[in-house]
Amino acid sequence: MEHSIPNQFDHVPERISGLVDLAYNLWWSWNPEARMLFKQLNHQAWKASVHNPVRMLHEIPVEFLNRAAADPAFCHRYDIVMHRFRKYMSAAGTWFSEEYADRPPLTVAYFSAEYGLHHSLPIFAGGLGFLAGDHLKEASDLGLPMVAVGFLYSQGYLHQQINHDGWQEDVTEPLDRDAAPVTPVLDADGEDLVVRVPHIDPPIYVAVRKVQVGRIPLYLLDTDIPCNDPENRGISSRLYAGDREQRLRQEIVLGIGGRKVLHALGIEYAAVHLNEGHPAFALLERIRERVERGMEFEEALEEVRATSVFTTHTPVPAGHDVFHVDLIDRYFAPYYAALGIDRIRFLQLGVHPESPASGFNMTAFALRASAHHNGVSRANGAVACDMWKCLWPGPAEAAVPIDYVTNGVHVPTWLNPRMKALYDRHIGPTSPDWLPEHDDPMIWELVDEIPDAELWQLHLWLKAKLINRLRERERLRWTTRPGGASSSAVEGAFLNPSILTIGFARRFSTYKRAYLIFEDLERLKRILNNPWQPVQIIFAGKAHPSDNEGKGVLQRIYRYTQDPGFGGRVAFIEDYNDQVARYLVHGVDVWLNNPLPPMEASGTSGMKASLNGVLNLSILDGWWTEGYNGRNGWAFGETAADCEARDGIDAAAIYDLLENEVVPLYYDRSIDDVPHGWVKMMKESIKSNGPRFSSRRMVKEYVARYYPSLLKGAGAAYARYPATAKPQKPPAWKSQVQGKGADDLFSP
Ligand SMILES: *Cc1c(COP(=O)(O)O)cnc(C)c1O
Repeated sequence: MEHSIPNQFDHVPERISGLVDLAYNLWWSWNPEARMLFKQLNHQAWKASVHNPVRMLHEIPVEFLNRAAADPAFCHRYDIVMHRFRKYMSAAGTWFSEEYADRPPLTVAYFSAEYGLHHSLPIFAGGLGFLAGDHLKEASDLGLPMVAVGFLYSQGYLHQQINHDGWQEDVTEPLDRDAAPVTPVLDADGEDLVVRVPHIDPPIYVAVRKVQVGRIPLYLLDTDIPCNDPENRGISSRLYAGDREQRLRQEIVLGIGGRKVLHALGIEYAAVHLNEGHPAFALLERIRERVERGMEFEEALEEVRATSVFTTHTPVPAGHDVFHVDLIDRYFAPYYAALGIDRIRFLQLGVHPESPASGFNMTAFALRASAHHNGVSRANGAVACDMWKCLWPGPAEAAVPIDYVTNGVHVPTWLNPRMKALYDRHIGPTSPDWLPEHDDPMIWELVDEIPDAELWQLHLWLKAKLINRLRERERLRWTTRPGGASSSAVEGAFLNPSILTIGFARRFSTYKRAYLIFEDLERLKRILNNPWQPVQIIFAGKAHPSDNEGKGVLQRIYRYTQDPGFGGRVAFIEDYNDQVARYLVHGVDVWLNNPLPPMEASGTSGMKASLNGVLNLSILDGWWTEGYNGRNGWAFGETAADCEARDGIDAAAIYDLLENEVVPLYYDRSIDDVPHGWVKMMKESIKSNGPRFSSRRMVKEYVARYYPSLLKGAGAAYARYPATAKPQKPPAWKSQVQGKGADDLFSP
């Protein structure tokens, strides 16, 4: 099986032709010196491509390429970067190859409906996707044997445009396949590899595209091909779109089709890791293959369970996919027989004991068909145990086997390059290998060596850069959409880099409560407009296209940006994505987070912020219940009130903290104009959060605790990451389901 880089790059001179390989491996995106290489070809072309080297190599006038190929300085840099790239790709001497030298040569297959890797590949919606993206990048850096499966969404994701009335309009930008860093996967005859999703009638076919994430191949399924019915072509058009039936078909294609694609590619793997319940049908197909080879269903189920990891994020019952029994019958009737079981046994696999009539619950199924499950923070793990204890009734309830692995972020992706250079200068002399070892907390103690003024000057520079970027975006928007949202206040033309700046950016889901800081308008105005110690806030985020409530919240905030009463101190940045996120988490002073507990599974943007010295002002939910130590930021929301009163109480806590602690500390300057108290807190935040909330710590934890067949002969490494939650006990779900008399529940 081959994948091929399209041969439209004949214009790239031979001397620097490796740039094409580099462009098709997202490795460049987390290696600043590789990014610099593209940028040096031509700065404006780099910007015009929106930092997408594939697009850039298509569009750049060829004379710039010829000039670079003839420039000894460029070629010297090019040779160094290419040497590093090839060495990295050779995969010798990685953490994994050293720690697990005697492992069997098997792979983990990672399944997720979305991946947030880079904005040039719009196959993500939010945090779930960025978690998956960071997981792959880290698996690559650690040398883990892994392949990943997802979707290539032909409609990309929706761009957000705010109209003059403050209402979010969702503008589709179809994916430009030629400009995306994906290559078609070809079969032995050099044709597009097309795989039929088994047991679905009328048939669905998928083509396969490949994204190279460092050493990790990510295979993206694409149903938008001519041999599919028009309806089926649309299955992969958009993330989480369509009605229930289309959603079911999406999940069938992702799980069952995805498994089939790995099979067609000849990829053997030992374990499956499901990121959320969407791809759970992959486990069904693994069972079916075993039954086909002559195994009994229950035995096959046990074997699959033992080698499957399921990560659950969603802390509310309504957030889990449930499919009506009629739909399941329509699509899975042939499957029942293929599994060697009857309809009732099949439906039992997805039954939710507390609402058995609701249908086939993907999370319940994933929990039953995997032996290893985890939430994504300590708090979220506890919520998941509580929410799913009904699957382990009786004595087992006290020991629900849902553990947790707290999320982390990929440090090379989210650490600003200049901040990295600062750490290099001050951590490097004592710990030259600090970056590869950045999950070691001792290394970060050296952050104390950084002179306060140096850290502060860099932070101010990053804040100025953020504000410059926002102004440039506003200028561009004004030239391309002069009739669009009308005020320069909106996109932050009035922002001032010397003022205390709060950032709030995330999806506009209701539970994130973007409106919270506006609970008491007069008090907020006093805080923002304080003539001696002013404050400004930058908002960004998209509402889901069908979430009118979220769009309403956004509109309210938009109107505040227009209201002179807020003094031009509230801005809303359109079209949130990872690029905007990067500027914000590098450049604001404070990262505000105030979801309604316990709804924040983990939250990762605050981790990105703290890595760069931005201080968290956050409610105690998700990761912050583990991260907050009393010295590294601010916390509120300790006492849970009922929902009605909660908004007022939490908002008051934010105002109190701002008025009494945050604002005074920020403006408390010494004779050198450095707020030493603030900088001390920045250092504490970097030191305490950097190592713990890195994806390096996270992926190592997954390796040691879950990727089980990889663990043979790896005793020492395993002992370092003992399970932190309850002991794993065999689940008692079988008796439970039978006890409920599930047979009656599904009678037609
Ligand atoms: C990190 C990130 C997220 C996740 O943020 P949360 O804090 O989990 O809400 C969402 N979108 C983008 C673009 C990100 O970079």
